[in-house]
Amino acid sequence: MHPRPKLFVSRCLGFEACRYNGAVIEDPLVAKLAGFCDVTTACPEKDTGLGVPRDPVRLARAGGGIRMIQPASGRDHTDAMTAFCAAKAAELAGTAPGSARPPEGLPAVDGAVLKSRSPSCGMKDVKVYRSTEPGAMADVGIGLFGQAVLSALGGAPVEDEGRLKNYTIREHFLSGLFARARFRAVAESGGPRELSEFQARHKLLFLAVNQASMRRLGRIAANLERHPFPAVLSEYGAELGTMFGSPAKPGGVINTALHAFGGFSERLSPLERKYFLDAVEEYRDERIPASALFTLLKAWAVRFEVRYLLDQVFLDPFPKELVEITDSGKGRDR
Ligand code: SF4
Repeated sequence: MHPRPKLFVSRCLGFEACRYNGAVIEDPLVAKLAGFCDVTTACPEKDTGLGVPRDPVRLARAGGGIRMIQPASGRDHTDAMTAFCAAKAAELAGTAPGSARPPEGLPAVDGAVLKSRSPSCGMKDVKVYRSTEPGAMADVGIGLFGQAVLSALGGAPVEDEGRLKNYTIREHFLSGLFARARFRAVAESGGPRELSEFQARHKLLFLAVNQASMRRLGRIAANLERHPFPAVLSEYGAELGTMFGSPAKPGGVINTALHAFGGFSERLSPLERKYFLDAVEEYRDERIPASALFTLLKAWAVRFEVRYLLDQVFLDPFPKELVEITDSGKGRDR
């Protein structure tokens, strides 16, 4: 049984026709995610009064900083957007005055999906013009709201819908999102025993994602008898942010899958062993997702009743309905 993560989404990704041209973007993954998450949305441009439809805004360097301007009207929208970003970031971080405080060290949401390349919501590859003059050249940077969300969420998974079309990035994002939601449940209503169980069940997933961070989490959890539970939770939550804030590492998934496979490989036929090792190579070559390897491992763990492996989140990190075999074809972008 998987928890329901709290997810923030750019509103134009299927929730409202609020783009500058009055359009909405139907994204299949976001639509599916909405069935498994508690979603909140915002449209920074509409919510700051730019209207729908509207003339596009852009980011441009001026006066030693980056301004948000609307070339068609000559309007400088920076101050309104900056104020909106500060208020919404505090809300997402769980620090806004009057809002319900999330448990120790956790933001108010477990992750976010932002609209790619938007001057407001974009988290990567956003055009930033070198000046406010017409025809100025552009570099790439980050959207004003995208920056605010990344800072507010303290390492919780944040991606854009374009990058999520790559299945390595998508599986990493979904694994982190659902791990954060399970950790939130421990922080909200669990105690030391539940945190120890969380640590034990996530051991292989953590090994696959970031071995150094996994060791630090182990050391933090080992303090449960010596330090107050809220202090341990807070430190653990911060380290969890570091773990899933790091890029997806297919090599870590392969090593961990081989480690799990080693637990029963001698009981398999030579043909079965070859089949699995060929599948590992297909994953390495970006031809199949990690979930294909997990399905094989899980079937054998059931057959040989490998209880330890069946309890591991690694083999079932998020609802199987969210597993997509399709890929953008752009390869892994780490
Ligand atoms: S990218 Fe962000 S600001 Fe632009 S329409 Fe979508 S939600 Fe609104």
